[in-house]
Amino acid sequence: MEKEEKSKGERCWKVESKKKKGTLCMIPERCKGCGFCIEFCPMKALEFSDKTTDKGYHPPKLTGDCILCGKCEKICPEFAIYLEEEE
Ligand code: SF4
Ligand code: SF4
Repeated sequence: MEKEEKSKGERCWKVESKKKKGTLCMIPERCKGCGFCIEFCPMKALEFSDKTTDKGYHPPKLTGDCILCGKCEKICPEFAIYLEEEE
């Protein structure tokens, strides 16, 4: 799993699953630490990171095998996670 920083503060991970290819990105400063994305990820691929945002939250990081299902993007109330799928 490859990590890259796209713009300041934003964290992105390249994902290649059996069916899909793309990038999962996290905008830490938007995160409020609710944990919904971690709880509802069907692959249990997210966990809280050790990083602390200016507001004192720990934004999740990708640690497992993401399948780019899009649940985290849909469920995040703060629009802190988004996916970019490649064709
Ligand atoms: S896209 Fe799906 S599999 Fe990947 S981290 Fe989000 S919820 Fe989990
Ligand atoms: S659902 Fe959004 S706000 Fe909640 S922990 Fe995940 S990224 Fe942060």
